[in-house]
Amino acid sequence: MFNTLRILCRGLVVPAVLAALCMALPAGCGREARPSMECDPTAMYATIRTLCADSLGGRRAGSGNDLRAARLLADELHAAGCEPLWREALVPFCIPAGRRGMDKVLAGEWRDSSYNVVMTIRSRHPEAEKVLLGAHYDHLGLFKADKGKRHKAADMLRGANDNASGTAAVVEIARCLQPYADSFRRDLVVALFGAEEMGIVGSRHLERMLRDSAVVVGHMVNLEMLGRMRGDTLLLQGEILSPVSLVAAETGAADSLRIDLSTDFSVGSDHVSFASKMIPVSFFVTSDITTLHTVDDTPESLDMAGMERAVNYIMRYVYTLLTTERLPELREKI
Ligand SMILES: [Zn+2]
Repeated sequence: MFNTLRILCRGLVVPAVLAALCMALPAGCGREARPSMECDPTAMYATIRTLCADSLGGRRAGSGNDLRAARLLADELHAAGCEPLWREALVPFCIPAGRRGMDKVLAGEWRDSSYNVVMTIRSRHPEAEKVLLGAHYDHLGLFKADKGKRHKAADMLRGANDNASGTAAVVEIARCLQPYADSFRRDLVVALFGAEEMGIVGSRHLERMLRDSAVVVGHMVNLEMLGRMRGDTLLLQGEILSPVSLVAAETGAADSLRIDLSTDFSVGSDHVSFASKMIPVSFFVTSDITTLHTVDDTPESLDMAGMERAVNYIMRYVYTLLTTERLPELREKI
């Protein structure tokens, strides 16, 4: 989560919306039987631990550790059955000078670039608008220790929840959905963004690159901080741009989760790079942010049972986007 723009979740809940919309649809929400998909929490936890290891130093963009993390993630996505969208899975972009920390640049500790990992699972319909599933993998590293200055500069900010959790979820969802690619009505583009913590730099770069390459994204799904559920509530934002509640209704029940279709809209993560270009988005996030940008954001602090339920739901939601006849359209008035 980009530091200066926090999630705004005042908890405006519309619990009746899902049920009402589901009832408005044909029996079974109008869909043929869908494959049963279960994520593997052990695999997700292994990815989270890898990203949070000492050897990756907190994955700060420009530190070199981001490049190591990106390479590891490209290997994981390749093993999950994804192929690069373009020639290379790692797509470099420049970090604006003001974002690098000039003291570190002068000390020779910084590079000029970071990397997005951009891969795809192709359908039989290359002409259709794509669904983009993304999460940022970078975090804050060793420097600028903590917002409250409660920790020494050498403390490592590991970012297990922010956002190793979302990253691991993207990899796992890609792995589970890949065998069903023949039933997709559109391609899935999988993107792991760098330099989100510097002001959603990587996703802005990718949005521009996709546009320049005439790769049309019809819907973007952003996963952030999925490892700290409060109660049984998973937040889903995006209704303000397009009727994502219809996708939720078509997806069906949520394994004892409450899907909070809040009308709030956080402007602190990578979906904003796409929403600001009038691309409909779905933003999934859990609401306990007490460890945000502190040394306490460790793998051990995560609620993996809650994350497993959240990811199982999100996976079915993404499958709905990939197989539904029509993606939710942008509202005429926003
Ligand atoms: Zn963050």
